[in-house]
Amino acid sequence: MKVPFIDILRYEAGFYDAVVAKAAELIRNGHFAGGPAIGQFEQAIKDRTQSAHALGCANGTDAIQLALRAAGVNKDDKVLIPDMTFWATFEAVVNVGAVPCTLDVSRETLHLTADTVKRGIETFRPKAVLLVHLYGWACPETVAIRKLCTESGVTLVEDCAQAIDTLIDGQSLIGTATVATTSFYPAKVLGASGDAGGVFFRDAKVAEACRTLINHGRISHYEHGLVGWNSRLGAYEASFMLEALKHLDARVDSRRGVCAQYRERITHPALTFIGPAANVRENGYLSVAVMQPSTRPPFIEFLKSKNIGYGSVYPGAMSDQPGATGYIGGKISDGNATWIANSVINLPCFAYMIQDEVDYVVEAVNAYK
Ligand SMILES: *Cc1c(COP(=O)(O)O)cnc(C)c1O
Repeated sequence: MKVPFIDILRYEAGFYDAVVAKAAELIRNGHFAGGPAIGQFEQAIKDRTQSAHALGCANGTDAIQLALRAAGVNKDDKVLIPDMTFWATFEAVVNVGAVPCTLDVSRETLHLTADTVKRGIETFRPKAVLLVHLYGWACPETVAIRKLCTESGVTLVEDCAQAIDTLIDGQSLIGTATVATTSFYPAKVLGASGDAGGVFFRDAKVAEACRTLINHGRISHYEHGLVGWNSRLGAYEASFMLEALKHLDARVDSRRGVCAQYRERITHPALTFIGPAANVRENGYLSVAVMQPSTRPPFIEFLKSKNIGYGSVYPGAMSDQPGATGYIGGKISDGNATWIANSVINLPCFAYMIQDEVDYVVEAVNAYK
């Protein structure tokens, strides 16, 4: 038996043919940039996320840059980000000319806490906080952090690249955010077949500014009200995702089932499984366990010997990256992000993993000596 870490090619019956038929239609109609599929996808993802305004864009990193720009983050403004996230979060802040300051995360929840955000606001006087929700969960202190930012007059942007379909208090995480972004990178829970992203706003004016930024700052065809760039969503990706959306419930159910089985059935004392907070419904993006850092390398060798794929998302803190030098504006660190980077192990998890594969992983890990 060989179980990959991820297999994104386990499509539903009929999915491939439906996508190919849609692609043929786009080519026949010459809908290469723009066309009806974009608006249809934006409407569908708006409904799905229960958000007020939803815009498609080129990728998840652009989505963060667009959200920061539309929300009024300017050159040299400070933006707080968690020290444990994907590097795109850091890059997006730098690429809009702002200055990232990293905040440590909790060893227990792996996310920011309201206390640390409060300390960060007092220490750095930032323009914005970029709250990142990882692993298909929501940051457990989301509600408190939203309240804190409102009270402090700090703009809050939520990076939901891994959190499409994640619920908090029974409601859409994206839909309850003031400003949220996502990625439709193929390996994400709702994946395109190439790069794509989304930006979500509560405020109509900010959404309109963002739409302008996405399309060269255009206010009419050759009149440019802002300096934006070309971050348009492709028509083909929009069509592909319209089809994928029809199957999202089944894909999410399948992933959540895998995560739940690992948490319930793997009892090996070397692994401590972590899950979403009690008021959060995960989307099953990743299975997460932590190990004492010294025990992880031999365990990884064991997984390799059993042909079991694995991840360690993410293997380095942002403030430790060589690329952070010269850009980072400050940090609050108790060493937790670095500890997490050396401790997390992700077991195989993807939509339509079969029960034999889950059983194989569970039994192998439980028998690990
Ligand atoms: C994937 C991801 C991004 C970037 O998305 P791309 O579409 O790859 O640009 C940003 N933030 C987080 C947390 C992500 O997981």
